[in-house]
Amino acid sequence: MTLAPASPVALGARFASELPELAAPWRAASVADPQLLALNEPLAGRLGFDPEWLRSVDGRRFLAGNLVPTGATPVAQAYAGHQFGGFSPRLGDGRALLLGELVDVDGRLHDLHLKGSGRTPFARGGDGLAAVGPMLREYVISESLFALGIPTTRSLAVLATQTPVYRETTLPGAVLARVARSHLRVGTFQFARGTGDLELLRRLADHAIARHYADSATAAQPYLALFDAVVTAQATLVARWMLVGFVHGVMNTDNMTISGESIDFGPCAFLDAFDPVAVFSSIDTGGRYAYRNQPVVAQWNLARLAEALLPLFADDQEDAVAVATEALGRFGAHYQAAWTQGMRDKLGLPSDVDDAVAVALIDELLDHMQQSGVDHTGFFRALGAGARGDTEPARGLFLDIAAFDAWADRWLALQPDGDLMDRTNPIYIPRNHLVEEALAAAGDGDLHPLDGLLRAVTSPYRPQPGMERYAEPAPGDFGPYRTFCGT
Ligand code: AMP
Ligand code: MG
Repeated sequence: MTLAPASPVALGARFASELPELAAPWRAASVADPQLLALNEPLAGRLGFDPEWLRSVDGRRFLAGNLVPTGATPVAQAYAGHQFGGFSPRLGDGRALLLGELVDVDGRLHDLHLKGSGRTPFARGGDGLAAVGPMLREYVISESLFALGIPTTRSLAVLATQTPVYRETTLPGAVLARVARSHLRVGTFQFARGTGDLELLRRLADHAIARHYADSATAAQPYLALFDAVVTAQATLVARWMLVGFVHGVMNTDNMTISGESIDFGPCAFLDAFDPVAVFSSIDTGGRYAYRNQPVVAQWNLARLAEALLPLFADDQEDAVAVATEALGRFGAHYQAAWTQGMRDKLGLPSDVDDAVAVALIDELLDHMQQSGVDHTGFFRALGAGARGDTEPARGLFLDIAAFDAWADRWLALQPDGDLMDRTNPIYIPRNHLVEEALAAAGDGDLHPLDGLLRAVTSPYRPQPGMERYAEPAPGDFGPYRTFCGT
């Protein structure tokens, strides 16, 4: 392979050089003529790329991993993971590559990573490929979460590879270029622990602290402080998902970051009607990753992280377990605080309203919403008008109108703040029927629906004239909705 000339942006090789035991140097499969299906120009600009260069032949070769800047060391990363509760000691990037790290305009470090770039030493039986549909789905969902202010990996570009991908049917192939604060996962620590090399585990933890939680370095117990910080970040993240009705779909420990960013959107979806047991993934037959289970699963995953880190917490195993258990126990309080504050904001509750009053009001509302199958996103946005005196739009969504009226009287007595509600409750989310519509059209070569959907969800709080249909629930004949893993 010819080594390419330098790209206009330098890529670091920090992970590859600091943690070579977790990094298999590798190259992307060659793609003859990659074509851009989506390019995130604002993100490209923040990362110091010239979008015009990314559109050029060299730029597209770079995004497909076929033009490697001098000094870069693309690697497949090793990790383990609990998948649906069962442990796999060796997963790793089977179809992905870390191209390297880059610094954004604010001086923050990010990974640039490819998905669908061909088989790697971790591919096992897989073909190393990705299909256009799931990669565009990841693009839409990640950009939506970002616009909603929720920590997430982001999508820089999706390229069509013109390579067929064989799944249940033959699908067009794609490569996704994505950006993350890092790709360190709970599963990365599980892998390092599994090697039995405690110095590697310590180096990995030091790397994580330096990249994400620099304050932990000066704590009395830096590794416990690291764990504490991850517990807090994940509790907050999952609360944010719950507040917007997001169901990740495959919360395996290899799909949970140390940074607290959302990652690996396979069979994810947003709630339409509020339903605590909603599951969208075709493979989650037991409902392990159902909407309401997400906080419990996150804490379970963090327990696996604690197990991996245990030797770094204390020399004595019992002491280590004691401090880990205590830190893990703080998840609930962090989660509740983030959830309650978020729900207070969704309801526009002034800060002098007592938390006990707020929680009772929230719990009762969710019961009514579930009973009436109320559209989650539509309801909270409509309720903003209620704070300004017009409860009709929200009221009309309930079957049991008397129950809503009684609830609304108590809520209105607290003098909710409609402006706060409008800043908190999105109008536009990637509704399942719109995502399917956009992906189907893209599969037929029409990118207009995708562009329209992206325009709506990347500006979620501001009403956009002419975009009314993006705010509406699915037509009655849509569903039940099933999504499929990105493989
Ligand atoms: P995911 O379900 O995307 O989180 O992936 C779980 C594991 O399977 C990871 O180790 C992936 O790298 C691997 N994997 C998923 N799809 C493929 C594929 N088509 N080829 C090779 N490895 C894959
Ligand atoms: Mg994954």
